[in-house]
Amino acid sequence: MRAEILSIGSELVSGQNLDTNSRWLSQQLGMLGVTVAYHTTLGDEMDDHLEAFRTAVGRAGLVLMTGGLGPTQDDLTREALALCAGVQLVEDAASLAAIAAIFERRNRPMADRNRVQAMFPEGAEPLPNPIGTAPGIWMKIGGAWVAAMPGVPSEMRRMFDDEVVPRLRGLGLGGRHIIHRKINLFGRGESDIERDAMDLTARGRIPEVGITASEATISFRITGSGETEEEAIRQAEPTAATIYERFGPMIVGEGTADVADGLFAELARTGATIATAESCTGGLIARMITAISGVSPYYLGGAVTYSNASKTTMLGVPTERIEAHGAVSPEVAAAMAEGIRNRLGATIGISTTGVAGPTGGTPEKPVGLVYLGLATADGTETRRLDLGIERPRDFIQIFSAKSALNWARLVLREV
Ligand code: AMP
Ligand code: MG
Repeated sequence: MRAEILSIGSELVSGQNLDTNSRWLSQQLGMLGVTVAYHTTLGDEMDDHLEAFRTAVGRAGLVLMTGGLGPTQDDLTREALALCAGVQLVEDAASLAAIAAIFERRNRPMADRNRVQAMFPEGAEPLPNPIGTAPGIWMKIGGAWVAAMPGVPSEMRRMFDDEVVPRLRGLGLGGRHIIHRKINLFGRGESDIERDAMDLTARGRIPEVGITASEATISFRITGSGETEEEAIRQAEPTAATIYERFGPMIVGEGTADVADGLFAELARTGATIATAESCTGGLIARMITAISGVSPYYLGGAVTYSNASKTTMLGVPTERIEAHGAVSPEVAAAMAEGIRNRLGATIGISTTGVAGPTGGTPEKPVGLVYLGLATADGTETRRLDLGIERPRDFIQIFSAKSALNWARLVLREV
């Protein structure tokens, strides 16, 4: 069975408010194994309601709608459902009593208009709303089951969980369990990774695998399904194992884990410590590391040395070296990494110096040119990144920061 979700409200189509209900409902239906085929958003106009409702019940077996159940003139969902089903609106005594009770609890008189919230299309089932005045509606129109819920997100979620899900299960829907497993990688581009994973991302494969990219971290998303949660997890397992086999060293973690979490795992495993010296990343590396709770035994600290003078005073980079090679150079990146490692007594020192742009580039040192430094007891190395003059400043900073973290992670992996 396929589902359609209708979001109702002029504030949604006008761009004033974002429709977040559809997203949430789609995720919930996805976890229940119900495919959502359409999202429709419409304003508070009766003709549009009738057309959208008729279309939806004609093409979907399940129609979930939110909004338009309030007491005011622009709330048309109730009336439109009755018209669409060809039935009258009738008052439900229990719902009216529940609405009256809410006003009593709030110590406010009930407006006459609130009575309409106790009106239901004949034959429909009221869905109680314990946290608001608008009850929902459950009914069948033609071949489709329809649930109308309030627009207020907290009321909608509560009603979906408490009232709609049990009814879906009663229809024999939601019997399947769906799980998502997200494996995160860093170090190569999305299309480059996909080239080595065409067999996994092929359409129609079971379990399904998708690739997404977010701030230079690439993720494989495996969707497993089964009669039980364990079965769904088991279905995803061999595919996850294949991804680990093929991309092992590039994998930084699962779920929300990013490069810094991958580094943290290696620091914890080896007991190594790290210190950071940042120019073009402006403290972003320190921020990424310290976003992780429990990292304090391993992260000794760092310096943001944005000016040439601070590279000398705070890290001991020789002035002559900066004069001879420029601040954006492998020589300075190396001295920065060594400087912070020595001053803080860390196992590893990492550094960044580069041109984040969009201003400040030259033909010899264009925007996107970044040098990374990494110092250990075995010596110091540098790397050059050419990220491209067209890249926005924040991308260059994020990519540089993650590259430095990832380099340290890979070095520790060998320990
Ligand atoms: P309604 O039930 O139409 O009176 O909607 C009540 C309030 O819920 C609106 O003013 C919006 O702030 C919010 N709302 C309605 N529909 C949505 C939606 N699809 N996504 C997020 N918020 C919504
Ligand atoms: Mg509304």
